Amino acid sequence: MTIICPCSSTKNYAECCQPFHDGAHFPVTTEALMRSRYSAYVVQNADYLLATWHKATRPKQLDFSEDNATWQKLNILHIKKGGVKDEKGRVEFNAFYVQDGETRLIHEISRFKKVAERWFYVDGVLD
Ligand SMILES: [Zn+2]
Repeated sequence: MTIICPCSSTKNYAECCQPFHDGAHFPVTTEALMRSRYSAYVVQNADYLLATWHKATRPKQLDFSEDNATWQKLNILHIKKGGVKDEKGRVEFNAFYVQDGETRLIHEISRFKKVAERWFYVDGVLD
């Protein structure tokens, strides 16, 4: 059975974010990390989210038990740096979700930093 990846890439999950979630590979670009973190929210993979969070800003834990949002779609709007040879990057995106019967939107510019050849999520600016 093939599952379309929840990150809206239109690829199969097994060929997109799943190898990152399984720890088989690390994303080499901030876009791939951004997508895999969004899809980790969809599948509620807290371990992956924490493992890809920069240690300076990482929460102690993530609790999805009160979370009734149903994630719908990720739109990547703009990518600044964050390539294979970069040390920092920003990804601007819209993430759509349904909560209490209403479709809502998060618009964020996420900041990423590379530590020992791996990308980490640092923080995000909402607006
Ligand atoms: Zn994906």
